[in-house]
Amino acid sequence: MSDPTRPPSPKIIAVANQKGGVGKTTTTINLGAALASKGCRVLIIDLDPQGNASTGLGIETEDREFTTYELLLEDIDLGRVIQPTKTEGLSIVPATVDLSSADIELISNEKRSFLLYDALRQHAMDSYAYDFILIDCPPSLNLLTVNAMVAAHSVLVPLQSEFFALEGLSQLMLTIREVRQTANKALRIEGVVLTMYDARNNLSQQVEADARSNLGELVFDTVIPRNVRVSEAPSYAVSVLDYDPNSKGARAYLQLAQELLSKNIRAVA
Ligand code: ADP
Ligand code: MG
Repeated sequence: MSDPTRPPSPKIIAVANQKGGVGKTTTTINLGAALASKGCRVLIIDLDPQGNASTGLGIETEDREFTTYELLLEDIDLGRVIQPTKTEGLSIVPATVDLSSADIELISNEKRSFLLYDALRQHAMDSYAYDFILIDCPPSLNLLTVNAMVAAHSVLVPLQSEFFALEGLSQLMLTIREVRQTANKALRIEGVVLTMYDARNNLSQQVEADARSNLGELVFDTVIPRNVRVSEAPSYAVSVLDYDPNSKGARAYLQLAQELLSKNIRAVA
């Protein structure tokens, strides 16, 4: 790609952590919007049957005729399941609760771990219209999350600044290692981002110190503060950048996008 400010298209990142409520969906939406605001073309793939990313970006349930389910299980082309959002440069493949049966339906399918990989590569023209594809994973290390890790170049791990935050990480790292050994040798860890950070709270500081001493450079310098504007934005069906661009949350996600971009440019150079 001739534009040096952009990574080669598309960089595919799975946003994963098997704990629920740690900020996966919030990070997917707002990092996606922040990258879009910097001129990147971003596609979000909602891989969670709860469909929170879809709802948070204003895709009503009745408008989800073609979803991740059809993409994975019915061989419908990527181009047909993508929908634009109100944010320029940000599109989404929505999800519905239908996706919750995918795990069981796929058990006897030989290619069960490669469905998303195939969907993104078979129709390369559709996916190569993007600079970044962010996959919002479900709160589990199930077959859907494995599909995301097989399809992705890297995994971005939101870590809630809470007691026990680091406990689930070893299991997540084990799954990443298994995927590397079996299906995706090149899978990297993009980084760990601390979310819902409260600078006045000793616990947040403790979790940050533990994360940095255990994980070193894997932890992003940027931390995402706990910010009420971040939690309000989804009910207005937009990212926090559109909802309140001057909020602490919006500024933190812009900074995270910048850090991600500079890491990736370094990796390419
Ligand atoms: P996950 O996708 O990992 O289950 P979510 O992104 O849905 O987690 O976040 C869980 C809850 O925490 C949501 O209600 C969300 O609005 C809230 N939340 C996430 N990040 C922040 C933040 N930085 N500040 C305030 N609330 C947040
Ligand atoms: Mg979620």
